[in-house]
Amino acid sequence: MDPNCLFCKIGAKQIPAKLVYEDEAAFAFEDINPQAPTHILICPRKHFVALHDAGPDDQALLGELQLVAAKLATERNLLPGYRTVINNGSGAGQSVSHLHLHLLGGRNFRWPPG
Ligand code: AMP
Ligand code: ZN
Repeated sequence: MDPNCLFCKIGAKQIPAKLVYEDEAAFAFEDINPQAPTHILICPRKHFVALHDAGPDDQALLGELQLVAAKLATERNLLPGYRTVINNGSGAGQSVSHLHLHLLGGRNFRWPPG
């Protein structure tokens, strides 16, 4: 855990959030500024900033984030259309330096994204 990291603190329940899923490796919570009717952030408990900081040992963990997204999308009846997004780096819009997968659903989405 990085003691200065917002999402590490949410995972450790030192900062409140609407947690919707957790296990020993990952946790998920409602985004504070939702961009769709469902907007959930899915995080590894392990602190790393972006996808390119992960290594071969993190392969299963990265896969788990996607599977948690699929489980939540199924539970919330989002299967007609949902999106999973990882913003890596400020140029892609990353504002919190702890890897997180956005799960967005409940509305239609355009392509390409902005
Ligand atoms: P990104 O811009 O990809 O780094 O995504 C960061 C997301 O974290 C944004 O969608 C924010 O709305 C969200 N966020 C920031 N602070 C909090 C918080 N305390 N609780 C829940 N979501 C947050
Ligand atoms: Zn962190």
